[in-house]
Amino acid sequence: MNSCIFCKIIKKEIPARIVYEDKEILAFEDISPQAPIHILFIPKDHFASLNALPEEKQHVIGHIFTKAREIADEKGIKDRGYRIVLNTEKDSGQDVFHIHFHLFGGRQMTWPPG
Ligand code: 5GP
Ligand code: ZN
Repeated sequence: MNSCIFCKIIKKEIPARIVYEDKEILAFEDISPQAPIHILFIPKDHFASLNALPEEKQHVIGHIFTKAREIADEKGIKDRGYRIVLNTEKDSGQDVFHIHFHLFGGRQMTWPPG
């Protein structure tokens, strides 16, 4: 999608600190980190939110979770703990309408989330 900032990151039209990439997904550091480790995971296909992800593409969620766990391990936070967040539509606070999962770690999280 032409106007989508995350599609531009996928196409390398705007820079990002890429952590992991394969043919289906991209992981990169959040520009405004809310924890010592804050990495975004996105499918390379554009879907505005979870609500727009068709059933035949839902395997990408499992792939993202598997890679997020691997990267949590590489970053040394797998055993102490981490949080994965998916904001969906307005009430969740979703700002960027290309589905993305946040991986947070490196500090004690609080509950409930805001
Ligand atoms: P949301 O609120 O939609 O779940 O989260 C969007 C996230 O994208 C925010 O954490 C925000 O800091 C991040 N973000 C927005 N624009 C950019 C950008 O251009 N580059 C990077 N790396 N992250 C971005
Ligand atoms: Zn997009």
